[in-house]
Amino acid sequence: MIAEIIAAGSEMLTPHRQDTNSLFLTAQLNDLGVEVAFKTIVGDNLEHLTGAARTALSRADIVIFSGGLGPTEDDLTREAVASTLGISLRRDPTILASLYKRFAARQMVMPPNNAKQADVLEGAVILTNSNGSAPGQMIDTIVGDYRKLVILLPGPPREIKPLFEEVVKPLLEATLPSRSLARRILRMALIPESHVDARTSPIYNEYADVQTTILAGHGEIQLHFTSAKATLLEAQARVDELAGRIEAEMEDAIFSSQGESLEEVVLLMLEMRHLTLSVAESCTGGLLAQRLTAVPNSSRAFVGGAVVYTPELKMVFADVPREMVEMHGAVSPEVARALAEGIRARTGSSLGISITGLAGPGGGPPGPDAEKPVGRVYIGLANGRDTHIKELNLTGDRDYIRWWSSQHALEFLRL
Ligand code: ATP
Ligand code: MG
Repeated sequence: MIAEIIAAGSEMLTPHRQDTNSLFLTAQLNDLGVEVAFKTIVGDNLEHLTGAARTALSRADIVIFSGGLGPTEDDLTREAVASTLGISLRRDPTILASLYKRFAARQMVMPPNNAKQADVLEGAVILTNSNGSAPGQMIDTIVGDYRKLVILLPGPPREIKPLFEEVVKPLLEATLPSRSLARRILRMALIPESHVDARTSPIYNEYADVQTTILAGHGEIQLHFTSAKATLLEAQARVDELAGRIEAEMEDAIFSSQGESLEEVVLLMLEMRHLTLSVAESCTGGLLAQRLTAVPNSSRAFVGGAVVYTPELKMVFADVPREMVEMHGAVSPEVARALAEGIRARTGSSLGISITGLAGPGGGPPGPDAEKPVGRVYIGLANGRDTHIKELNLTGDRDYIRWWSSQHALEFLRL
């Protein structure tokens, strides 16, 4: 059973508006065990809408339209669906009466155009919309030899959401064969996508009944597994079996198998080992601290730290000798070490971590740092016995280098 979502509205073909309804609808359909196989965005044009409707009906069992149920000339979903299905529209007297009432309640005269919002496909179930004037409609019909479910819903998010949850969902639950969807997400940091795919595809390709998606971004790779089965237990078993095999293959590259973020995993690990952490950040300007403190209860392991951007501040808050900065540059393993050890000593935490680097776009200040490339970053990690230093040579813009630096620091702490 596959679905297609058609988002109608020319505004979503401009750079100014996004189709967000389909994200909501996809989540809802997945919960019902229905896979969304296609999404289409189409402008307010009868010919284009009719074409999109015809295509969708040729390839999906369930076709859901969002938008184009308004009263204006460019609201054409009803007309397009009627002409594609070869079903006529009838003006529903009950809906018409409620439209008149809606306007009367606001001391307004209903413009003649609004009457078309009472047009319903012959044979359709009316989906009462308590948050807007246009009701939705659902028609269970046969196209060629196939049963098709066609659902028309209003565009405004504040209308479509309650309408789907309160009216459409119960109807679909009663109509569709019951399928349960199980999901699992494995998360990895700092590994190239191609590398993950090369190692995992031989495994996930054995599972035709589990849909695998690789999502890459922000210094992280996510593997999403979903499976739809008659029972949740069955679906979960398949997804868990596959996830288990991938975990064994990727070993400690996987930081999370139950959806936790890297920050959460690091904090949990610190807490379990009864360790506390402080940070001294230069080029990341507090990004690492911000990420850690975004996790509730982070104070169980994270004590705080300092943003030590200038040499003076490095000296004041982390005891980095001025001569060291002058001799080696602020972006150096020596300074990374001194920062980590300094902040650890100052705060009394069990671990101190530092980040110092050149985020660009310009190079370093005159002196030893002037020679170093943009993207050069040092991370120091002090534990009181020894201090480990990691050198990074990142490429990308300022935001990217700063984010990846914080990502590397978290991975440094985790491993
Ligand atoms: P109305 O009766 O309000 O005219 P409608 O069903 O005709 O309802 P549209 O005119 O298509 O809906 O859209 C109304 C509003 O909802 C617009 O502001 C539009 O940007 C927003 N909207 C429409 N479709 C989507 C979508 N797929 N995702 C997010 N917002 C949407
Ligand atoms: Mg519209």
